[in-house]
Amino acid sequence: MSEIRHALPIRRADDFAQWYQEVIAAADLAEESGVRGCMVIKPWGYGIWERMQALLDRRIKDAGHDNCYFPLFIPLSNFEREAEHVDGFAKEMAVVTHHRLVAGPDGKLIPDPEAKLEEPLVVRPTSETIFGDAMSRWIQSWRDLPLKLNQWANVVRWEMRTRMFLRTSEFLWQEGHTAHADAESAKEHTLRMLEVYRSFADEQLALAVIAGEKPENERFPGAEETWSIEAMMQDGKALQAGTSHYLGTSFAEAANIRFQDKEGQQQLAHTTSWGVSTRLIGGVIMTHGDDDGLRVPPAIAPVQVVILPMLRGNDSDAALIDYCEELRDAIAKQDALREPVRVQLDLKPGKPAPKRWTWVRKGVPVIIEVGGRDLEQGKVTLLRRDKLWGDDAKPAFAGPSRLDCVAEISGLLEDIQASLYDEALARRENAIARDVDTLEGLTAFFSSEKRYPGWVEVQWSKPTGEELQQVVDKLKSLKLTVRNVPINAAPVEGTCIFTGKPAVERIYVARAY
Ligand code: AMP
Repeated sequence: MSEIRHALPIRRADDFAQWYQEVIAAADLAEESGVRGCMVIKPWGYGIWERMQALLDRRIKDAGHDNCYFPLFIPLSNFEREAEHVDGFAKEMAVVTHHRLVAGPDGKLIPDPEAKLEEPLVVRPTSETIFGDAMSRWIQSWRDLPLKLNQWANVVRWEMRTRMFLRTSEFLWQEGHTAHADAESAKEHTLRMLEVYRSFADEQLALAVIAGEKPENERFPGAEETWSIEAMMQDGKALQAGTSHYLGTSFAEAANIRFQDKEGQQQLAHTTSWGVSTRLIGGVIMTHGDDDGLRVPPAIAPVQVVILPMLRGNDSDAALIDYCEELRDAIAKQDALREPVRVQLDLKPGKPAPKRWTWVRKGVPVIIEVGGRDLEQGKVTLLRRDKLWGDDAKPAFAGPSRLDCVAEISGLLEDIQASLYDEALARRENAIARDVDTLEGLTAFFSSEKRYPGWVEVQWSKPTGEELQQVVDKLKSLKLTVRNVPINAAPVEGTCIFTGKPAVERIYVARAY
């Protein structure tokens, strides 16, 4: 059998990190900007982000939140009110200290010493403190609770090791902030938003994530509980894809968010916060990309179906374009995944084959090619991006009639969505070991022949403080991290593989991004 000639020069199996960069370029998603850690998100990448925004925004609003917008700059003193919070973020804050430039001694512009701000302003790394300020004004009595807000914004965290989408110094995200009358309802809400993230990630991004609680050492600075969804990438590493925090009353105390309860007593509110970012795009690339580029799940594809007429530059083109326009209009009237199908007719100049491969690399779910013979026979030539190659190492073209193609497009897109999820889930479950019950077994698992091992679900005694630090250090020496304690774990029996004490829960151990 002849060998498949893939569209990318680098295979996942050869160099996953290089392959990742290659997909970003080949699918035209983003590029470096010249400022370290800041990227330019190109139209196809931004289109995917806009789809994610639209779908998640709907879920956030359905859960009772209103969108709003808070300033980019936060007075430094706001941060200082919550000691753990400022400690956690101090090492990665960008700070504005001046508001004007002047010519320096050598003629170059420098910050004007006369225009020094009285108080430095932090470029927000997250907005708990400034939402807290507003909440203290907006909440007076129990009737004002719960207060449920969300904002879509950019934030800046001065990351030392950056990688496009996964870890950037500036990233786009949504951050939800809520205030509740008691711990119970705040905790319940923290979990409700975790479930919103889980279902969004599974159903729309087809990521097959695991939802659970982060151990103490991985908590958000200042939080009492941090929950996450963790996704497995094709190299077996874990990616923290979203977080939901129960903040207790410490942020309420710092910002003075108090309310009069039904008995007329002053009480501190309990707050939550939760966020997902453009990191999700990195997760989609490393979950669904293949050796031909990206594969975008239909739910988040800016274009779900592209039609490519095989134009010849002669008189026959007009009839071909008419045929394709009718096809486009008929497809656009169909619904898939509860929305009108997004279809584009690509009339850009260029030879058919290179145009096809451009769309393959971008990962458009369905490519429809139409040539002179298709027109004569009332047919189309159709390619599924998720199952590109036939057994003969050639693209697996199907040749339905135009009518069948229109009638079946919804089912096809839904099938692609489902099969990308099934693939991700099967890969994850294949790469998780649940029978490792010693530290030696754990070490052996990650030093096995396999290039991309996966995750191990172990039982542990939920150590805290110094004891937990020892576990974390030990794992760090193996380049491993604890991920989360899954919500729906099997019961435990036996002892902790780290401390030898009776086990109380299960936790995932993995290499991570
Ligand atoms: P956090 O506020 O730290 O809980 O982060 C909220 C979300 O932003 C999580 O889903 C993180 O995965 C994501 N995130 C954190 N830091 C970065 C970064 N430097 N670049 C992209 N996404 C990030």
